[in-house]
Amino acid sequence: MSKNRVIIAENRLHRPDYFSGMQAAAKAELCPFDPGAEELTPQTILRLDDASGNWRVRVIPNLYNALSIEEPKSTERIGFFERQDGLGAHEVVIEHPEHEKRFGTFEHEDFLYYLKALHHRLEDLRKDTRLEYVQIFKNSGAKAGASMTHPHSQIIATPFIPRRLYDELVNQKAYHAEHGRGLLEDMLHEEMRLNERIIYENRSMVLLAPYASFFPFEVWVVPKIPVSSMLELSQAQQDDLAAAMRVLFSRMEGQLGDFPFNMAFYERPARCEHDPEKIMEGVESYFRFHIRVMPRIYQLAGFEVSTGVHINPVPPELAASRLKEA
Ligand SMILES: [Zn+2]
Repeated sequence: MSKNRVIIAENRLHRPDYFSGMQAAAKAELCPFDPGAEELTPQTILRLDDASGNWRVRVIPNLYNALSIEEPKSTERIGFFERQDGLGAHEVVIEHPEHEKRFGTFEHEDFLYYLKALHHRLEDLRKDTRLEYVQIFKNSGAKAGASMTHPHSQIIATPFIPRRLYDELVNQKAYHAEHGRGLLEDMLHEEMRLNERIIYENRSMVLLAPYASFFPFEVWVVPKIPVSSMLELSQAQQDDLAAAMRVLFSRMEGQLGDFPFNMAFYERPARCEHDPEKIMEGVESYFRFHIRVMPRIYQLAGFEVSTGVHINPVPPELAASRLKEA
């Protein structure tokens, strides 16, 4: 009864974790994401090699995809209801050749390769005029919804802008119209002034535990410079982003161990066909690219699911001070 869409994807049923979390916990005999097992995964979309010709990052289509790039873009009404064919892209980014690697043990160079791969895929997917929004995300750990233990992220590109993001953009546009500055720009400015929830900063990136965060130990990576997409980052700024991510995950592991989390990249939409609130007008100036890392150390339960209101047992000020000291 909201304006939210749901992706109904039956082939997701067959993905490994459907048969309980046991398989996710134990390492499969042959991991399809390991070097040497490339023939087990579908064709390679992108591969970044090191100087000796070994791959550092591989991007492949998701075998248990929620959306497919071969579908036409069409919407039909079925009486009261509306349906759209499952057009979209669903890709897996194999972040590292080593099965046991984690973001918490990544080197600076590992993050650089990772970001470079995301950059390429984002650039490519944004060109497809049927697609409106690209979501890069990561599930790490069974409690965060991961079905494979090998370090990986996913990219889903949709032919519509997800409702919650559209609504957020409506709010941000209205804020910009009223104040002449972006919401995240002002929030960052205020956080830097108060300096209660800032964890780390370098030339162009800041790590902060956001005010009234939804999740315990939630951390955002926010650029100091006005960029609405990671595609606008210079080489030096990508380097700063890699450095910030390394600090973030090594300190988080210092506090929480090998913790389950979701991570999401928030990007300016590529386009928007049905745009009653005209959110695409001036989106480059009111929206700022950022990354949210959401540890899943407590399960969401009935209250959160029924109301959308989160209960967070760790104040962000405490999280920030712990991560600053770590
Ligand atoms: Zn593996």
